Amino acid sequence: MKTLREYLADADKRRVAIGHFNISDIAALKAIADVAGELKLPVIIGTSEGEREFLDIHDCVALVKDLRENHGQPVFLNADHTHSLEKVKLAVGSGYDAILFDGGTLPIDENIQKTKEVVEYVKSKNKNIIVEGELGNIGSGSTVRKELPKGAAIKPEDLTKPEDALRFVKATGVDMLAPAVGNIHGMFANAPDPALDIARIAGIKKAVKLPLVLHGGSGNTDADFAAAIQAGITIVHISTELRAAWRKGMESGLQKNPDEVAPYKLMAESIEEMKKVLRQRLRLFNNLR
Ligand SMILES: [Zn+2]
Repeated sequence: MKTLREYLADADKRRVAIGHFNISDIAALKAIADVAGELKLPVIIGTSEGEREFLDIHDCVALVKDLRENHGQPVFLNADHTHSLEKVKLAVGSGYDAILFDGGTLPIDENIQKTKEVVEYVKSKNKNIIVEGELGNIGSGSTVRKELPKGAAIKPEDLTKPEDALRFVKATGVDMLAPAVGNIHGMFANAPDPALDIARIAGIKKAVKLPLVLHGGSGNTDADFAAAIQAGITIVHISTELRAAWRKGMESGLQKNPDEVAPYKLMAESIEEMKKVLRQRLRLFNNLR
């Protein structure tokens, strides 16, 4: 099996994107692993600080390792949005394949200094772990929203500039970069998300020549995804769409089976709803018709 670094290089070259999906329970993991297996695609499982605390950080690693080692599936584990060196150390020690250090809301010089410290620490422990840095504020929280998250960059002057991106990656030594290109975490309740700045993605890609990660993919249009991937996005994060599908399936399962108490039977519909989202997104990201 290829390493995550090799899968990234391959996706980068072929101008396709690896899907990154967050989990906080077994139902989501099962749906992701099933669909990735069905489509024969590598995928990345993400856990935020809250998600990995809920599931237990060691269990997250054991579950993903099992898929890889005992089921032969190229599934990798990312410590999504990690905000401190202390939490980075826990993820490294537990066996994560990738880590996102999120200094996106910090002033650029402080972000560079903290991210550099993280890269140096991670590489001193295990050179194979992929480190991602974040430059620009894309808001926080994978939720269905009515308005833009506080502080999120949406005006062109607030988005990540190619020259800043180059300075950031050179100074920190990160393996991948998550820029602010009009993307926001979460999705709008009744409308598509704001359009992505495709020319900016291409400009950043040209400057840094590293895999770029699109956060907050939920709610963006198919056309924007396709164009963003062509412009240089190598990983797309989807979380809120899966959460919403989980809830929709759960509500329907409870309603249809008012006397059922077996969790695995009630979860079946949640898993099916999540699989619909996963198939649609993974096909789009990988140019599968
Ligand atoms: Zn994110």
